[in-house]
Amino acid sequence: MKLGLVAAFAIGTGFALALVLGFQTIWNKPPAPQAIARVADWQPSQMQILGSLDKSPSSVFVETVELAPVLRDYDPPTPPDLNIALPQIAPPTLIWSGEISAGETLDALLSKAGLSARDRAEVALALEAEYDLRRLKPGYRLEVETSTLGALQRVVLSVEAGVQIEAVFLDRITTRRITPEPELIEHAADTTVQTSISATLASAGIPARFAVDLAEMLGGTVDFRRDLKGGERLQLMWRETMVGDEMIAQPSLSFATLTVDESIYEIIWPEDDSGNATIMIDGELLRVFAQPVNGARLSSVYGNRRHPIYGDIRMHTGVDFAAPRGTPVYATAPGRISYIGQRGGYGLVVEIAHGSDTMTLYSHLDSVPNELSVGQRLSAGDNIGRVGSTGTATGPNLHYEVRVDGRPTNPMTEDFLASAEGQIDKRADILPRLESLRAQFTALLDLDDPHSNPERL
Ligand SMILES: [Zn+2]
Repeated sequence: MKLGLVAAFAIGTGFALALVLGFQTIWNKPPAPQAIARVADWQPSQMQILGSLDKSPSSVFVETVELAPVLRDYDPPTPPDLNIALPQIAPPTLIWSGEISAGETLDALLSKAGLSARDRAEVALALEAEYDLRRLKPGYRLEVETSTLGALQRVVLSVEAGVQIEAVFLDRITTRRITPEPELIEHAADTTVQTSISATLASAGIPARFAVDLAEMLGGTVDFRRDLKGGERLQLMWRETMVGDEMIAQPSLSFATLTVDESIYEIIWPEDDSGNATIMIDGELLRVFAQPVNGARLSSVYGNRRHPIYGDIRMHTGVDFAAPRGTPVYATAPGRISYIGQRGGYGLVVEIAHGSDTMTLYSHLDSVPNELSVGQRLSAGDNIGRVGSTGTATGPNLHYEVRVDGRPTNPMTEDFLASAEGQIDKRADILPRLESLRAQFTALLDLDDPHSNPERL
Protein backbone atom coordinates (compact mmCIF):
# COMPACT_ATOMS: atom_id res chain seq x y z
CA MET A 1 0.00 0.00 0.00
CA LYS A 2 2.69 2.38 1.08
CA LEU A 3 4.75 1.28 -1.83
CA GLY A 4 1.79 1.87 -4.11
CA LEU A 5 1.42 5.43 -2.78
CA VAL A 6 5.11 6.11 -3.30
CA ALA A 7 4.87 4.71 -6.77
CA ALA A 8 1.79 6.83 -7.53
CA PHE A 9 3.57 9.88 -6.11
CA ALA A 10 6.61 9.14 -8.18
CA ILE A 11 4.53 8.77 -11.31
CA GLY A 12 2.67 11.98 -10.48
CA THR A 13 5.94 13.87 -9.92
CA GLY A 14 7.30 12.41 -13.09
CA PHE A 15 4.27 13.60 -15.00
CA ALA A 16 4.60 17.09 -13.49
CA LEU A 17 8.29 17.08 -14.36
CA ALA A 18 7.44 16.06 -17.85
CA LEU A 19 5.06 19.02 -18.01
CA VAL A 20 7.74 21.40 -16.76
CA LEU A 21 10.16 19.96 -19.28
CA GLY A 22 7.52 20.54 -21.89
CA PHE A 23 7.44 24.20 -20.93
CA GLN A 24 11.16 24.38 -20.90
CA THR A 25 11.27 23.02 -24.37
CA ILE A 26 9.14 25.93 -25.44
CA TRP A 27 11.05 28.52 -23.43
CA ASN A 28 14.42 27.28 -24.45
CA LYS A 29 13.58 27.41 -28.10
CA PRO A 30 16.65 28.84 -29.80
CA PRO A 31 16.38 32.60 -30.26
CA ALA A 32 15.20 33.93 -33.55
CA PRO A 33 17.95 34.92 -35.97
CA GLN A 34 18.81 38.56 -35.52
CA ALA A 35 17.72 39.40 -38.99
CA ILE A 36 14.13 38.32 -38.27
CA ALA A 37 13.13 40.77 -35.57
CA ARG A 38 13.99 42.54 -32.40
CA VAL A 39 13.75 40.02 -29.58
CA ALA A 40 10.94 41.83 -27.72
CA ASP A 41 8.64 41.45 -30.71
CA TRP A 42 9.55 37.90 -31.36
CA GLN A 43 7.15 35.08 -30.73
CA PRO A 44 7.61 31.50 -31.67
CA SER A 45 5.57 30.26 -34.50
CA GLN A 46 2.75 28.01 -33.28
CA MET A 47 3.15 25.77 -36.24
CA GLN A 48 6.77 25.18 -35.46
CA ILE A 49 6.15 24.32 -31.82
CA LEU A 50 3.41 21.90 -32.69
CA GLY A 51 5.59 20.35 -35.27
CA SER A 52 8.59 19.97 -33.05
CA LEU A 53 6.61 18.68 -30.08
CA ASP A 54 4.33 16.49 -32.09
CA LYS A 55 3.69 13.15 -30.48
CA SER A 56 5.37 14.21 -27.22
CA PRO A 57 3.24 13.80 -24.11
CA SER A 58 2.90 17.51 -23.55
CA SER A 59 1.82 18.31 -27.09
CA VAL A 60 -1.78 18.19 -26.06
CA PHE A 61 -1.09 20.71 -23.32
CA VAL A 62 0.75 23.08 -25.59
CA GLU A 63 -2.08 23.09 -28.04
CA THR A 64 -4.35 24.79 -25.57
CA VAL A 65 -5.16 28.35 -26.43
CA GLU A 66 -4.62 29.52 -22.81
CA LEU A 67 -0.91 29.03 -23.06
CA ALA A 68 -0.35 31.42 -25.93
CA PRO A 69 -0.66 34.71 -23.97
CA VAL A 70 1.85 33.45 -21.41
CA LEU A 71 4.35 32.88 -24.17
CA ARG A 72 3.68 36.28 -25.70
CA ASP A 73 4.17 38.11 -22.41
CA TYR A 74 7.38 36.31 -21.74
CA ASP A 75 10.43 38.47 -22.26
CA PRO A 76 13.08 36.08 -23.43
CA PRO A 77 16.71 36.58 -22.46
CA THR A 78 18.96 38.48 -24.81
CA PRO A 79 20.02 36.08 -27.52
CA PRO A 80 23.70 35.47 -28.10
CA ASP A 81 25.35 37.76 -30.61
CA LEU A 82 24.72 36.22 -33.97
CA ASN A 83 26.59 38.96 -35.71
CA ILE A 84 29.29 36.57 -36.80
CA ALA A 85 30.35 36.60 -40.41
CA LEU A 86 28.90 33.58 -42.08
CA PRO A 87 31.25 31.66 -44.32
CA GLN A 88 30.86 32.61 -47.99
CA ILE A 89 28.84 29.97 -49.67
CA ALA A 90 30.44 29.89 -53.10
CA PRO A 91 30.86 26.79 -55.17
CA PRO A 92 34.47 25.66 -55.16
CA THR A 93 36.51 26.80 -58.16
CA LEU A 94 39.88 25.97 -59.64
CA ILE A 95 42.20 28.82 -60.54
CA TRP A 96 44.92 28.39 -63.14
CA SER A 97 47.38 31.17 -63.83
CA GLY A 98 50.17 31.57 -66.33
CA GLU A 99 52.26 34.09 -68.21
CA ILE A 100 52.53 34.62 -71.95
CA SER A 101 56.01 33.60 -73.01
CA ALA A 102 57.88 34.87 -76.07
CA GLY A 103 56.27 33.67 -79.29
CA GLU A 104 53.32 32.09 -77.49
CA THR A 105 49.75 32.77 -78.62
CA LEU A 106 46.79 33.37 -76.34
CA ASP A 107 45.25 30.19 -77.70
CA ALA A 108 48.31 28.15 -76.73
CA LEU A 109 48.26 29.58 -73.22
CA LEU A 110 44.54 28.81 -72.88
CA SER A 111 45.26 25.24 -73.96
CA LYS A 112 47.75 24.98 -71.13
CA ALA A 113 44.92 26.09 -68.82
CA GLY A 114 43.02 23.03 -70.07
CA LEU A 115 40.26 24.85 -71.95
CA SER A 116 38.40 23.22 -74.83
CA ALA A 117 38.63 24.71 -78.33
CA ARG A 118 35.11 26.13 -77.92
CA ASP A 119 35.96 27.80 -74.58
CA ARG A 120 39.23 29.15 -75.99
CA ALA A 121 37.38 30.78 -78.86
CA GLU A 122 34.84 32.25 -76.44
CA VAL A 123 37.58 33.66 -74.19
CA ALA A 124 39.35 35.30 -77.15
CA LEU A 125 36.09 36.83 -78.33
CA ALA A 126 35.20 38.11 -74.85
CA LEU A 127 38.64 39.65 -74.20
CA GLU A 128 38.71 41.23 -77.65
CA ALA A 129 35.63 43.26 -76.72
CA GLU A 130 37.83 45.34 -74.40
CA TYR A 131 41.39 44.75 -75.60
CA ASP A 132 43.20 44.49 -78.92
CA LEU A 133 44.78 41.04 -78.58
CA ARG A 134 47.43 41.93 -81.17
CA ARG A 135 48.96 44.08 -78.43
CA LEU A 136 49.63 41.08 -76.18
CA LYS A 137 53.24 40.92 -75.00
CA PRO A 138 55.33 38.29 -73.24
CA GLY A 139 54.97 38.66 -69.49
CA TYR A 140 51.27 39.54 -69.49
CA ARG A 141 49.44 37.32 -67.00
CA LEU A 142 46.32 35.25 -67.48
CA GLU A 143 44.13 33.78 -64.76
CA VAL A 144 41.46 31.19 -65.62
CA GLU A 145 38.78 30.21 -63.14
CA THR A 146 36.75 27.06 -63.73
CA SER A 147 34.28 25.06 -61.65
CA THR A 148 35.46 21.73 -60.25
CA LEU A 149 33.53 20.19 -63.14
CA GLY A 150 35.61 22.15 -65.63
CA ALA A 151 33.01 24.76 -66.58
CA LEU A 152 34.64 28.08 -67.57
CA GLN A 153 33.67 30.86 -65.13
CA ARG A 154 36.06 33.80 -65.26
CA VAL A 155 39.19 34.95 -67.06
CA VAL A 156 41.40 37.86 -66.01
CA LEU A 157 44.10 39.18 -68.36
CA SER A 158 46.64 41.54 -66.79
CA VAL A 159 48.17 43.82 -69.42
CA GLU A 160 50.24 47.01 -69.48
CA ALA A 161 50.02 49.80 -66.90
CA GLY A 162 48.23 47.68 -64.30
CA VAL A 163 45.13 47.36 -66.53
CA GLN A 164 43.10 44.16 -66.20
CA ILE A 165 40.56 42.76 -68.64
CA GLU A 166 38.02 40.58 -66.86
CA ALA A 167 35.56 38.32 -68.66
CA VAL A 168 32.86 36.52 -66.66
CA PHE A 169 31.11 33.53 -68.19
CA LEU A 170 27.74 33.05 -66.50
CA ASP A 171 24.32 32.96 -68.19
CA ARG A 172 25.77 35.58 -70.47
CA ILE A 173 29.33 36.76 -71.05
CA THR A 174 30.38 40.12 -69.65
CA THR A 175 33.74 41.79 -70.19
CA ARG A 176 35.09 44.83 -68.40
CA ARG A 177 38.32 46.79 -68.26
CA ILE A 178 39.63 47.49 -64.78
CA THR A 179 41.90 50.55 -64.81
CA PRO A 180 43.85 51.31 -61.66
CA GLU A 181 43.84 54.81 -60.23
CA PRO A 182 47.24 56.33 -61.08
CA GLU A 183 49.13 58.25 -58.46
CA LEU A 184 51.01 61.49 -59.18
CA ILE A 185 54.27 61.61 -57.28
CA GLU A 186 56.30 64.81 -57.08
CA HIS A 187 60.09 64.76 -56.86
CA ALA A 188 62.74 67.40 -56.36
CA ALA A 189 66.50 67.32 -56.77
CA ASP A 190 69.26 69.86 -56.10
CA THR A 191 72.44 69.02 -58.01
CA THR A 192 75.62 70.53 -59.34
CA VAL A 193 76.48 70.32 -63.03
CA GLN A 194 79.43 68.04 -63.72
CA THR A 195 80.76 67.54 -67.24
CA SER A 196 77.37 67.89 -68.96
CA ILE A 197 73.69 68.15 -68.14
CA SER A 198 73.04 64.54 -69.24
CA ALA A 199 75.92 63.18 -67.15
CA THR A 200 74.66 65.17 -64.16
CA LEU A 201 71.16 63.77 -64.50
CA ALA A 202 72.42 60.22 -64.99
CA SER A 203 74.63 60.24 -61.91
CA ALA A 204 71.85 61.76 -59.77
CA GLY A 205 69.29 59.18 -60.92
CA ILE A 206 67.11 61.84 -62.57
CA PRO A 207 65.25 60.94 -65.82
CA ALA A 208 67.69 61.53 -68.70
CA ARG A 209 64.98 62.94 -70.99
CA PHE A 210 64.99 66.14 -68.93
CA ALA A 211 68.25 67.09 -70.66
CA VAL A 212 66.23 67.62 -73.86
CA ASP A 213 63.55 69.58 -71.98
CA LEU A 214 66.21 71.88 -70.55
CA ALA A 215 67.82 72.26 -73.96
CA GLU A 216 64.43 73.13 -75.45
CA MET A 217 63.91 75.91 -72.93
CA LEU A 218 67.43 77.27 -72.46
CA GLY A 219 69.18 76.11 -75.62
CA GLY A 220 68.68 79.45 -77.35
CA THR A 221 69.92 81.45 -74.36
CA VAL A 222 72.60 79.34 -72.73
CA ASP A 223 75.14 77.46 -74.84
CA PHE A 224 75.30 74.22 -72.89
CA ARG A 225 78.73 73.33 -74.31
CA ARG A 226 80.47 76.67 -73.97
CA ASP A 227 78.74 78.31 -71.01
CA LEU A 228 78.61 75.36 -68.64
CA LYS A 229 82.02 74.84 -67.08
CA GLY A 230 80.91 72.57 -64.26
CA GLY A 231 79.86 73.58 -60.76
CA GLU A 232 76.63 75.34 -61.86
CA ARG A 233 73.69 74.67 -59.59
CA LEU A 234 70.77 72.79 -61.20
CA GLN A 235 67.48 72.33 -59.38
CA LEU A 236 64.62 70.26 -60.79
CA MET A 237 61.08 69.45 -59.75
CA TRP A 238 59.07 66.84 -61.65
CA ARG A 239 56.06 64.52 -61.59
CA GLU A 240 55.90 60.78 -62.07
CA THR A 241 52.63 58.97 -62.79
CA MET A 242 52.68 55.65 -61.01
CA VAL A 243 50.46 52.59 -60.71
CA GLY A 244 52.01 50.60 -57.90
CA ASP A 245 55.71 50.38 -58.74
CA GLU A 246 55.18 50.92 -62.45
CA MET A 247 55.61 54.31 -64.10
CA ILE A 248 52.77 54.52 -66.64
CA ALA A 249 53.66 57.82 -68.32
CA GLN A 250 56.81 59.77 -69.09
CA PRO A 251 57.96 61.85 -66.12
CA SER A 252 57.39 65.57 -66.67
CA LEU A 253 59.22 68.61 -65.36
CA SER A 254 57.24 71.29 -63.60
CA PHE A 255 60.03 73.62 -62.47
CA ALA A 256 63.78 74.03 -62.90
CA THR A 257 66.46 76.53 -62.01
CA LEU A 258 69.95 76.82 -63.45
CA THR A 259 72.51 79.26 -62.10
CA VAL A 260 75.06 80.33 -64.74
CA ASP A 261 77.56 83.13 -64.09
CA GLU A 262 75.51 84.60 -61.22
CA SER A 263 72.34 84.64 -63.34
CA ILE A 264 69.47 82.47 -62.18
CA TYR A 265 67.26 81.02 -64.89
CA GLU A 266 63.92 79.71 -63.71
CA ILE A 267 61.75 77.63 -66.01
CA ILE A 268 58.06 77.10 -65.37
CA TRP A 269 56.36 74.38 -67.37
CA PRO A 270 52.59 74.55 -67.90
CA GLU A 271 50.53 72.83 -65.20
CA ASP A 272 48.48 70.82 -67.66
CA ASP A 273 48.61 70.01 -71.36
CA SER A 274 47.58 73.52 -72.28
CA GLY A 275 49.40 76.78 -71.79
CA ASN A 276 52.89 78.01 -72.45
CA ALA A 277 56.22 77.42 -70.81
CA THR A 278 57.84 80.48 -69.24
CA ILE A 279 61.51 81.34 -68.69
CA MET A 280 62.55 83.90 -66.07
CA ILE A 281 65.99 85.40 -65.53
CA ASP A 282 66.79 86.84 -62.09
CA GLY A 283 63.07 87.05 -61.35
CA GLU A 284 62.25 88.89 -64.61
CA LEU A 285 60.34 87.41 -67.53
CA LEU A 286 62.76 86.40 -70.30
CA ARG A 287 60.58 84.44 -72.71
CA VAL A 288 57.25 82.68 -73.06
CA PHE A 289 57.22 79.80 -75.46
CA ALA A 290 54.05 79.32 -77.46
CA GLN A 291 53.70 75.59 -78.12
CA PRO A 292 52.36 74.39 -81.47
CA VAL A 293 51.37 71.06 -79.86
CA ASN A 294 49.95 70.98 -76.35
CA GLY A 295 51.79 68.82 -73.86
CA ALA A 296 54.01 67.24 -76.51
CA ARG A 297 57.62 66.39 -75.76
CA LEU A 298 60.40 67.94 -77.73
CA SER A 299 62.12 65.02 -79.40
CA SER A 300 64.77 66.94 -81.29
CA VAL A 301 66.16 70.44 -80.85
CA TYR A 302 67.40 72.97 -83.39
CA GLY A 303 70.96 72.70 -84.65
CA ASN A 304 73.43 70.15 -85.95
CA ARG A 305 72.47 66.55 -85.25
CA ARG A 306 72.91 63.08 -86.64
CA HIS A 307 70.01 62.59 -89.02
CA PRO A 308 67.65 59.89 -87.70
CA ILE A 309 67.16 58.38 -91.17
CA TYR A 310 70.26 59.28 -93.25
CA GLY A 311 72.71 58.83 -90.36
CA ASP A 312 74.98 61.74 -91.23
CA ILE A 313 75.40 65.04 -89.38
CA ARG A 314 72.95 67.57 -90.75
CA MET A 315 71.58 70.89 -89.69
CA HIS A 316 68.17 70.39 -88.07
CA THR A 317 66.29 73.46 -89.17
CA GLY A 318 63.51 73.33 -86.61
CA VAL A 319 62.31 71.55 -83.50
CA ASP A 320 60.43 68.23 -83.44
CA PHE A 321 57.54 67.46 -81.13
CA ALA A 322 56.75 63.77 -80.77
CA ALA A 323 53.02 63.25 -80.27
CA PRO A 324 50.44 60.60 -81.14
CA ARG A 325 49.04 60.73 -84.67
CA GLY A 326 45.99 62.99 -84.76
CA THR A 327 47.10 65.35 -81.98
CA PRO A 328 45.92 68.89 -82.86
CA VAL A 329 48.51 71.40 -84.09
CA TYR A 330 48.03 75.12 -83.36
CA ALA A 331 49.31 78.34 -84.90
CA THR A 332 51.91 79.80 -82.51
CA ALA A 333 51.25 83.42 -83.49
CA PRO A 334 48.68 85.45 -85.45
CA GLY A 335 49.27 85.59 -89.20
CA ARG A 336 48.00 84.68 -92.64
CA ILE A 337 48.19 81.25 -94.27
CA SER A 338 50.72 81.42 -97.15
CA TYR A 339 50.82 77.77 -98.21
CA ILE A 340 48.99 74.45 -97.70
CA GLY A 341 50.23 71.31 -99.45
CA GLN A 342 53.02 68.77 -100.00
CA ARG A 343 56.69 69.80 -99.79
CA GLY A 344 58.93 66.77 -100.40
CA GLY A 345 60.45 65.38 -97.22
CA TYR A 346 58.34 67.76 -95.14
CA GLY A 347 55.20 65.91 -96.25
CA LEU A 348 51.94 67.79 -95.76
CA VAL A 349 52.78 71.33 -94.70
CA VAL A 350 51.02 74.50 -93.51
CA GLU A 351 52.96 77.77 -93.66
CA ILE A 352 51.89 80.96 -91.91
CA ALA A 353 53.29 84.41 -92.69
CA HIS A 354 53.69 86.74 -89.73
CA GLY A 355 54.30 90.19 -91.20
CA SER A 356 56.66 90.51 -94.17
CA ASP A 357 59.83 88.83 -92.91
CA THR A 358 58.82 86.00 -90.56
CA MET A 359 57.00 82.74 -91.20
CA THR A 360 56.27 79.54 -89.29
CA LEU A 361 56.10 76.10 -90.90
CA TYR A 362 54.27 73.02 -89.57
CA SER A 363 55.15 69.75 -91.31
CA HIS A 364 54.63 65.94 -91.46
CA LEU A 365 50.93 66.74 -90.91
CA ASP A 366 48.44 63.91 -91.13
CA SER A 367 45.60 66.23 -92.16
CA VAL A 368 44.58 69.86 -92.46
CA PRO A 369 41.01 71.10 -91.72
CA ASN A 370 38.95 71.39 -94.91
CA GLU A 371 37.91 74.95 -94.16
CA LEU A 372 41.55 76.14 -94.05
CA SER A 373 42.60 78.11 -97.17
CA VAL A 374 45.55 80.14 -98.40
CA GLY A 375 45.21 83.83 -97.49
CA GLN A 376 43.07 83.09 -94.45
CA ARG A 377 43.80 85.11 -91.28
CA LEU A 378 44.59 83.15 -88.14
CA SER A 379 44.93 83.90 -84.45
CA ALA A 380 47.48 82.29 -82.16
CA GLY A 381 46.06 78.97 -80.95
CA ASP A 382 43.91 78.30 -84.04
CA ASN A 383 43.92 74.66 -85.10
CA ILE A 384 45.75 74.25 -88.41
CA GLY A 385 46.07 70.44 -88.66
CA ARG A 386 46.87 67.18 -86.96
CA VAL A 387 50.17 65.45 -86.15
CA GLY A 388 51.20 62.79 -88.67
CA SER A 389 54.25 61.25 -90.32
CA THR A 390 53.91 62.34 -93.95
CA GLY A 391 57.18 62.97 -95.83
CA THR A 392 60.44 61.76 -94.28
CA ALA A 393 59.63 60.96 -90.65
CA THR A 394 60.52 58.11 -88.31
CA GLY A 395 57.14 58.35 -86.58
CA PRO A 396 54.30 60.77 -85.87
CA ASN A 397 55.82 64.14 -85.00
CA LEU A 398 55.51 67.81 -85.77
CA HIS A 399 58.59 69.40 -87.31
CA TYR A 400 58.16 73.10 -86.52
CA GLU A 401 60.25 75.81 -88.12
CA VAL A 402 60.57 79.55 -87.79
CA ARG A 403 62.12 81.36 -90.76
CA VAL A 404 63.26 84.96 -90.74
CA ASP A 405 64.00 86.43 -94.19
CA GLY A 406 63.74 82.91 -95.58
CA ARG A 407 66.38 81.45 -93.24
CA PRO A 408 65.55 78.92 -90.53
CA THR A 409 66.20 80.24 -87.02
CA ASN A 410 65.99 78.64 -83.61
CA PRO A 411 62.29 78.75 -82.66
CA MET A 412 63.33 78.96 -79.02
CA THR A 413 65.04 82.30 -79.45
CA GLU A 414 62.38 83.89 -81.61
CA ASP A 415 61.00 86.52 -79.28
CA PHE A 416 58.53 87.76 -81.86
CA LEU A 417 56.29 84.77 -81.20
CA ALA A 418 56.07 85.60 -77.52
CA SER A 419 55.55 89.33 -77.96
CA ALA A 420 53.09 88.85 -80.82
CA GLU A 421 50.82 87.02 -78.45
CA GLY A 422 51.07 89.73 -75.83
CA GLN A 423 52.48 87.14 -73.45
CA ILE A 424 54.74 89.74 -71.83
CA ASP A 425 51.64 91.17 -70.16
CA LYS A 426 51.15 87.91 -68.33
CA ARG A 427 54.10 88.66 -66.08
CA ALA A 428 51.76 89.54 -63.22
CA ASP A 429 50.14 86.09 -63.46
CA ILE A 430 53.36 84.16 -63.41
CA LEU A 431 54.89 85.69 -60.27
CA PRO A 432 52.50 84.07 -57.74
CA ARG A 433 52.97 80.74 -59.53
CA LEU A 434 56.75 81.17 -59.36
CA GLU A 435 56.55 81.89 -55.62
CA SER A 436 54.47 78.77 -54.97
CA LEU A 437 56.76 76.60 -57.12
CA ARG A 438 59.82 77.81 -55.20
CA ALA A 439 58.13 77.00 -51.88
CA GLN A 440 56.96 73.61 -53.16
CA PHE A 441 60.47 72.82 -54.33
CA THR A 442 62.01 73.62 -50.94
CA ALA A 443 59.38 71.54 -49.12
CA LEU A 444 59.80 68.58 -51.48
CA LEU A 445 63.57 68.62 -51.31
CA ASP A 446 63.45 67.81 -47.61
CA LEU A 447 61.36 64.72 -48.35
CA ASP A 448 62.85 63.53 -51.59
CA ASP A 449 66.60 63.31 -51.97
CA PRO A 450 67.45 61.12 -54.96
CA HIS A 451 70.97 60.58 -53.61
CA SER A 452 69.68 58.81 -50.54
CA ASN A 453 67.12 56.72 -52.39
CA PRO A 454 68.79 53.72 -54.03
CA GLU A 455 65.60 52.82 -55.95
CA ARG A 456 66.05 55.94 -58.02
CA LEU A 457 69.60 55.09 -59.06
ZN1 LIG B 1 62.49 67.94 -87.59
